[in-house]
Amino acid sequence: MSDWKVDSWRQKPILQQPEYEDSALLSNVEQTLSTYPPLVFAAEARELRRQLGEVSLGKGFLLQGGDCAESFDEFNAPKIRDTFKVLLQMAIVLTFAGRCPVTKVARMAGQYAKPRSSNFETRNGVTLPSYRGDIINNFEFTEEARRPDPNRLLEAYHRSASTLNLLRAFAQGGLADLHEVNRWNMAFVENSPLKERYTDMATRIQDSLEFMDVIGINANSSSTLHETSLFTSHEALLLNYEQALTRTDTLTGKPYDCSAHMVWIGERTRQLDHAHIEFFRGIHNPIGVKVGPSMEEDELIRLIDKLNPLNDPGRLTLITRMGADNLAENLPRLLKRVKDEGRHVVWSSDPMHGNTFSASSGYKTRNFDAILREIKQFFQAHESEGTHAGGIHLEMTGQHVTECTGGAYQISDEDLAQAYKTQCDPRLNADQVLEMAFLVADHLRN
Ligand code: PEP
Ligand code: MN
Repeated sequence: MSDWKVDSWRQKPILQQPEYEDSALLSNVEQTLSTYPPLVFAAEARELRRQLGEVSLGKGFLLQGGDCAESFDEFNAPKIRDTFKVLLQMAIVLTFAGRCPVTKVARMAGQYAKPRSSNFETRNGVTLPSYRGDIINNFEFTEEARRPDPNRLLEAYHRSASTLNLLRAFAQGGLADLHEVNRWNMAFVENSPLKERYTDMATRIQDSLEFMDVIGINANSSSTLHETSLFTSHEALLLNYEQALTRTDTLTGKPYDCSAHMVWIGERTRQLDHAHIEFFRGIHNPIGVKVGPSMEEDELIRLIDKLNPLNDPGRLTLITRMGADNLAENLPRLLKRVKDEGRHVVWSSDPMHGNTFSASSGYKTRNFDAILREIKQFFQAHESEGTHAGGIHLEMTGQHVTECTGGAYQISDEDLAQAYKTQCDPRLNADQVLEMAFLVADHLRN
C-alpha cells in the first residue's frame, strides 16, 4: 500500500461534504483532534474482524443497529441504555432461538454525519442548506443553525467518548448478565403481543442456567454469562474527522481509524475512484459498504478488489439495501458472482433504506411488512445461491417511537404523529425490533 497516505483521499473527488466557510478553523480542529486519545483500540477492531471472519464462513451472525442519526440534543443515559438493552435482547433471541453466535455492533458513539438526497431543503417558501448530521450542522431550520461549524467535530468526539464509556460499563457491569435476563427485559415486553413467546424463552434460559449450576458448570464464574462484547460503528462520511482519528497501531504498524471499531461507506459515496474508497482501502478496520439495486456485478468485484485485495474473510461486509420490490431481481446475481469468484465477504441485510416513502400524513416512514419482506427474501436468496445470510443492519431505538408503520401494534399513518422523534430516517421501535428478532431467529434455525 505504498501509494496510500492518511490524507491521499484529499486528491480525489468527494461527494456529500459540507462547505465550511472558515477553513483555518477546520484545520485547527483537525489538528487538535489528531492529538486526542483514540476512541477504540486497534486490537478491539482486530477482534471484531476475526469474529466477522467467522461470520463470513457461515459460523455466526452480525447484528448491527442503532439510530439513523445520533443527536446532540437527545444525549442522555436512558436513551443509550434502552438502545443497548434492545440490541442485547435481540441478540439473546437470535443466539438462543437461532442457535447461532451473534456479533453485536452498535450504530452508536459516532453516527453523526448524514448523506442527503438534496443539498437544500425548502419549507414554506424558505430554502436553506440541508441538515447533514450533528457533527456538521444543526437540525433547527434557521440559516445560522444550518451553517456547517468545524467545532462540531470536537463536540462529536466528546459525545462519542461518553457514549462509548457508558456502553462499555453496561456491557461489563451487570446490565448484560444473563441471570438478569428476566428482570431487565420484561419492561419492554410487558404489554407486547409477543410477551408470551419472550417470557417462555427467558424461562428456558433461566432453566438452562440452573441446570448448568446443578451439574457443576459454575455459571457464576463464567464471564460470558455476565458480560458481553459490544462493538461500535458509523458511516465514515466526514473524512476530515476520520483522518484525524486515524492512528498507527504500535503492535502491527498499521493504520486504524480509531473513531469506531467498524466503519462503513454509504450507497451515495462508494464510487470506485472517489475519496471514500481511497481512505477506506488504507485503514485496517473491518469495513462495510452499502450496496443498492443499481450495483453491477463487475463493479462489485472491482470494489472488492480495491477494499479487500487479500480476500481476508472478516475485512469486508456488504450491506445490501435493495428494497423489498427489487431484491429478487438484484441480489441473487451479486451473490452468484461473488461466490463464483471465491470472494469472502459478510452479506448483511439493511431492510430499511430501500423501503422508505412519504406517508399520506407527510411523515417519512417505512412499513414493517416491507421490511420483513426484504429480510425474508434476503434469507431465501442466500438459501437458493448456497451463500450465508450473515447479518442484519437496522435503524432502531429502544424507545417507544412511532416512526415505522405496521407491526404487531399496527401503527397506522395517522399514528405516526404520536411519537415521531427521528432527526433523519424512521426507526423501528423496541416492539417492532423484538418481533423482527423472532422472525430472523426462525430463519437462522432452518
Ligand atoms: C444510512 O445508513 O443511514 C444511510 C444513509 O444508508 P444508505 O447509504 O444505504 O442510503
Ligand atoms: Mn438512515
